Amino acid sequence: MVPRIGRHTGDSGARLIDISPPISESTPVWPGDTAFTRAVTSDLGDSDAVTINRITTTPHIGAHADAPAHTRIGGAPIGSVPLEPYLGEALVVDMTGVDGAACIRPVEETVERLGGHLPQRLILRTYPKYPREWDNDFAGVSPELTHWFADRGGVLIGIDGASFDPMDSKTMDGHHAASDRGVAILEGLCLDEVDEGYYELIALPLKFLDLDASPVRAVLRTLPSSLSTPTHAGEESS
Ligand SMILES: [Zn+2]
Repeated sequence: MVPRIGRHTGDSGARLIDISPPISESTPVWPGDTAFTRAVTSDLGDSDAVTINRITTTPHIGAHADAPAHTRIGGAPIGSVPLEPYLGEALVVDMTGVDGAACIRPVEETVERLGGHLPQRLILRTYPKYPREWDNDFAGVSPELTHWFADRGGVLIGIDGASFDPMDSKTMDGHHAASDRGVAILEGLCLDEVDEGYYELIALPLKFLDLDASPVRAVLRTLPSSLSTPTHAGEESS
């Protein structure tokens, strides 16, 4: 049989939604952390054979994965964490009306409304509009939610806020709950274009052998319509 080249996503009708905020020198970072800067070390415009940039940045820039080493002495660096959590079916839950940290009840309500299916990855939207500047008042993830989710087989929680723990936390309970339960952490996701529902998450960290985090190019791929919207799920079951 002659192999054919096809557009896989086009064939299935799936759509990619980019949930990575742009990274540049104007990308906000945690106050006191290392901002993103770049310098051109080789320049086509100066008759060099190639253009090459040098970058300086915190690895907690834009959409990123925290490693256990971020909040735990002896914790795994990002280059040695398992990749499975960062790839696979995810449920996006809208928490924009919730006051305080992301918690269990809105997740339960969404799961009930969408037919009872809880995948292993949870993406929490807390911002109606992703902030372009640093925001001190981001919502974290409650340790209770992480434990509840891990008890049900959850392997990853992603959020649009800058951290699992509030800005003034000294104990980092949200991060520790995730480390304790082996739940992978994604932060800084831009969910402005994303409705509640089921998607395939693709957000692999880079293989930095010694780092506490890595930027990710995070995308959501729409699933076949039976899973992606409650409307279609209802139609098919009737
Ligand atoms: Zn982080």
